[in-house]
Amino acid sequence: MSKRIFVTGGAGFIGSALIRYLINETNSIVMNFDKLTYAGNLESLKSIEDNERYHFVEGDICDQILVTKTLKKFKPDYIMHLAAESHVDRSIDGPGEFIQTNIVGTYALLEAARSYFSTLNDETKQGFRFHHISTDEVYGDLGETGLFTEKTSYDPSSPYSASKAASDHLVRAWCRTFNLPVVVTNCSNNYGPYHFPEKLIPLIILNALDGKKLPIYGDGKQVRDWLYVEDHAKALFCVVETGKIGETYNIGGFNEKQNIEVVNTLCNHLNDLVENKPDGITDFNQLITYVADRPGHDVRYAIDANKISSELGWKPEETFTSGMKKTVEWYLANLEWCKHVQDGSYQRERLGN
Ligand code: NAD
Repeated sequence: MSKRIFVTGGAGFIGSALIRYLINETNSIVMNFDKLTYAGNLESLKSIEDNERYHFVEGDICDQILVTKTLKKFKPDYIMHLAAESHVDRSIDGPGEFIQTNIVGTYALLEAARSYFSTLNDETKQGFRFHHISTDEVYGDLGETGLFTEKTSYDPSSPYSASKAASDHLVRAWCRTFNLPVVVTNCSNNYGPYHFPEKLIPLIILNALDGKKLPIYGDGKQVRDWLYVEDHAKALFCVVETGKIGETYNIGGFNEKQNIEVVNTLCNHLNDLVENKPDGITDFNQLITYVADRPGHDVRYAIDANKISSELGWKPEETFTSGMKKTVEWYLANLEWCKHVQDGSYQRERLGN
């Protein structure tokens, strides 16, 4: 039977990948609830916007009355909560929005969900899930060895990761205290099509094409695990359908890479794919420039994604090589999208992931 899925943040990078997957690969009926901040772009959903199983409401998750009204009308089987302020650098410049959306907004959504859940009959209650989508950054800095598991203690470093950690705790508390049936996922760095150009990978590609410097924080040796966004979308659907209530699942790509390796890989793909290089450039790697490190920059994140693969059978399909190549090809073919999503105030001056 087709599921009715209420997605928050569906116009963002991961949310739009999830909705394209739900519409194209499942028979789900989707409600996208999104505030359309600078990071939310309906253009990322153009390919499915006319599908009769897709619906959109523009709204803020902090607006509990609107969320409650929309839930009552749409009657979801699942809520998949992705709406967030998501960029670490912005959280350092101004943490306020992060506290508001990520903590207060998650609280408002939980209360609206609890009130909606209380109106369901026993059978519908059984199938209902509130799926909270979070990050591996809540675990903090890992050091040179070891992996984050679902049992690793929280130790967030940035205002972004602290606000996500707070929201994870709220979601688990609503499960334990009010019996709201929740599942939580913590995922590593995503990359792929439709990524807003302030994040490391699109920033590097677009700067390189313009012959601009490729800024790398510190020594570039920070390690992240990278997951292709479409693999993440599949993992999320797998967890909401088959995950156990109250459980947390880490999601990762089994791709630990230093930031500098990521940038070198992108430059090498661009060297192969771009015929008309900017003046004076023979190898894009020559544009790499090291800049002062981000304050509180964690050195290494690495995820143990064995629980989701052994218990639920999910595994990433893309390797780092295949995913990066697809991503570079996508950006080269979609420079118009990049132009459209960048407003006048954002000039790619920001770095990071
Ligand atoms: P994004 O910044 O690309 O998109 C966020 C979306 O949320 C946008 O469409 C925005 O308009 C919407 N939004 C923001 N505030 C809102 C509000 N108050 N009400 C309603 N909508 C609002 O983010 P993303 O990279 O797609 O990340 C999605 C989720 O996944 C986030 O919760 C993030 O913490 C988590 N996550 C991201 C990554 C990653 O690598 N990008 C990794 C792990 C987890």
